[in-house]
Amino acid sequence: MIGLTDTEVLNSRTFNGRNVLTPPKRDPWYILLLGKFRDPLIQILTIAAIISLILSVFSGSYYEPVGIIFAVVIAVTIGFLNEYSAQKKFDEMSTSSDDTLVKVYRNGIVVEIPRKDIVVKDRVILSAGEEVPADIFLTNARNLKVDESSLTGESVAVNKYPNYDGESAGTYPSFMCLKGTIVSEGSGEGNVTAVGDSTEIGKTARSANEITDVETPLNKQLNGLADLINKIAFTAAFILISSLLVRYLWIDYGYVGKNWMAITNDILSFVMIAVALIVVAVPEGLPMAVTLALAYSMKRMAKANNLIRKMHACETLGATTLILTDKTGTLTKNEMTVVDNIKYDIRDLDLSIACNTTAYLNDDKIVGNPTEGALLKAFVGNYEELRKQDIAYRKDFNSKDKYMVTVLKCGDYYKCFIKGAPEIIYNFLSDPYDYRPIITEWASKGRRTLAIAHKECDAYEDAIKVDNYSLQCIVAIEDPIRDDVPDAIEEAQRAGIKVKIVTGDNPATASEIGHQAGLPVNTTTLGTEINESTDSRLLATSVFARTRPEDKLTLVKKFQALGKVVAMTGDGTNDAGALNHAEVGIAMNNGTDVAKNAADIILLDNSFSSIVLGVKWGRSLYKNIQHFVLFQLTINVVAILIACIGPFIGIDLPFTVTQMLWVNLIMDTFAALALA
Ligand code: ADP
Ligand code: MG
Repeated sequence: MIGLTDTEVLNSRTFNGRNVLTPPKRDPWYILLLGKFRDPLIQILTIAAIISLILSVFSGSYYEPVGIIFAVVIAVTIGFLNEYSAQKKFDEMSTSSDDTLVKVYRNGIVVEIPRKDIVVKDRVILSAGEEVPADIFLTNARNLKVDESSLTGESVAVNKYPNYDGESAGTYPSFMCLKGTIVSEGSGEGNVTAVGDSTEIGKTARSANEITDVETPLNKQLNGLADLINKIAFTAAFILISSLLVRYLWIDYGYVGKNWMAITNDILSFVMIAVALIVVAVPEGLPMAVTLALAYSMKRMAKANNLIRKMHACETLGATTLILTDKTGTLTKNEMTVVDNIKYDIRDLDLSIACNTTAYLNDDKIVGNPTEGALLKAFVGNYEELRKQDIAYRKDFNSKDKYMVTVLKCGDYYKCFIKGAPEIIYNFLSDPYDYRPIITEWASKGRRTLAIAHKECDAYEDAIKVDNYSLQCIVAIEDPIRDDVPDAIEEAQRAGIKVKIVTGDNPATASEIGHQAGLPVNTTTLGTEINESTDSRLLATSVFARTRPEDKLTLVKKFQALGKVVAMTGDGTNDAGALNHAEVGIAMNNGTDVAKNAADIILLDNSFSSIVLGVKWGRSLYKNIQHFVLFQLTINVVAILIACIGPFIGIDLPFTVTQMLWVNLIMDTFAALALA
C-alpha cells in the first residue's frame, strides 16, 4: 500500500512536529505600548501634564492635570490596541497559505489535505504551479523543474531528477524539492524528509510569502492630508501664542503687580492653550479610523469569501469599473459531467483516457483537474490498474496550447495519446473526419468539448511529434452555471461595472454561458483577434474566447489604457502576469500557488458573486472614509478659527485647555471610532 496509515501519520506528527513555520518574532506588547510615547504630541502633552501637576500643587486645583493625563492615556491605549490587533491580523494572514490543499497518498489512495497537515514520510504528489509543501526526497519525476528563488534569490528554474547522482544546476541537490520553492514545470512524487521549522527554509529564512504592512494609495493620500493639517495647526498655534504674549506684555500689561509664580502660571497657560490647539487640530483619529475601517472591511470581505492579500485591494476593488472573469469554475460550478460522446475507434480508448490524465478519483470525488475527472468517471472503471505503464514522454495540459500528450513505452514500440480542444486536435489528425459541425452544435448548448486521439510509432522521435494521430472519440461535458451568477451580474451592471468573460473555451460554449449569465452577448472576439481589434470593438465585446494567458495581459493593458479600473480573475500559473498588472488581481482558491502569490485577493469560494460582494464592501469603505475626513476637517477648522480669533477680539481664552482636550477626546477619538 502506498502512503502512510492514520496511526503512522499521528506517530510521525508527535515525533517530528507539524508542518508550520514559527511566525517571525514580534515585539512584546509593552515595547509596542512604550513606542506610542515616541509620538511628539504625546510627549508635549506628557510634559504639559507634569508642569501642570506641579503648578496644581500650589494652586490646589487638579482638574487641568487630570484632564490632560486622561487624554494621554486614552490616546496611547487606543493607538496601542489598534496596532496590536493589526499585527495579529497580518500574522493570521501570513499563515493562511498553510491551508492550501496538497495531494498525498494516505491509506493507499490519493487525498487532498491542508499543507499544514503534511508529516515526515508522507508520499506527496507535485504538479506544475504548486508550492512545494515540505522538504521532499524525489522518488520519481517527469520534466520536473523547480524555481528555488525563495531560497536562493535566483529565479532560474532548475531541473530535478529522482536519483542521487543527477547533476544539479542549482544550489541544492537535484533529488530534493524544498519547502517554499515553486514547481514551474512537469510533475513528480516523493517522500517528505522534513516539515515545518526543520525544513531548509525554516532553518535559513522566513515564511516564503510573508505579508508585510504596506501603505495603500488611500493611506498615502490621507497621510499627506494629515501632514498638511499638522503644519497648519503648528502655524496657528504659533500665531496664537505670539498674539497672546503680545497682548499680555504690551497691551494689557497683565503681569503688572504679580509675583513670579503667577506670571509663570499665566505664560504657561498660554503654552498650554497652544498645545491644546495643536492636539485638537491634529487629526489623531484619522489614521486610526482608516486602519479600523480597513481592518473591518477586510473582515467583512473575508466573510464574503474574498481573502485580502494586499491591503490596497480593499479600496481598489471598490473603484473597479471592469471585471474580466474566467468562465470555468467562476461563472460555472466546475462540476463536470460527460453528457454526450461519439466514439470513432474504441481500441485503447480506456488506456488513452487513463494514462493521458493526471486527475484521481477518490470513490466518486474528483481530485485534480475536473475535466479529466469527468472523463475518468464516464469512460474507465479501473484507471489505476491501466495507469501502471511506463511513461516515455508527457506534455502536460496548459491553457496556452490547449492539449495534452502522453507517450507510453510498450516493448519495442510506443503508444501515443493526445486530448484537447477539438479545433486544435483537428490539425494533428492524419485523415481528418470533419466533426466540427457536431462540436459547434454541442458548444451552442454551452458544453465544453474535447477530442481524443491516438497513434502508434516505432521511433521515439516520431512518437513525440504531434501529427498523424487518428481520432478515437469526441466528448461533450456539461458544467452548469452557478445559480447566483445571473443575479450577481445584473447587480454589477446596475452598479455601473462592466463584466466580460475571458476564457480558453470555444466561442460558442462561451457565448451560451454568457447568455445564461445575462450578459449582452452580441460580439465575441477570439484571442487571436484582440491585437487588431478597435477600441470600440473591445469595449462592445462581452465574451473573449479561445484566449491564451498572454491575451489576458494584453486585454488588461488595453482596457487600462481606455481608463478602466480592471479587476481580473485567474487560476493558472500563466495568469500571474495579468493578475499582477490588473489593478485588482483575483486568484481562484483552487488555482495554482503562483497565481495566488501574484494576486491581491484570493477568492475563497471561486464564485463570481463573491467578487460583486467584495466590490460593495470596497465602495462602502471608500464612502465611509470620505465622510469621516469631511467630519474631521470640520472640527479642525472650527477649533483653529475660534482659538486663533479669540485673542484678537478681546476674549482671552475661548476654551480652557481641559475643554479643548475634552472636545478632542469626544470628536477625534470616540466619534472617529464610531464612524469607522
Ligand atoms: P477555461 O479555463 O477558460 O474554461 P481552459 O484553457 O481551461 O479554458 O480550456 C480550454 C480548452 O482546453 C477546453 O475547452 C478543452 O477543450 C481543453 N481542455 C481543458 N482541460 C483539458 C485537459 N485537462 N486536457 C486536455 N484538454 C483540455
Ligand atoms: Mg481553466
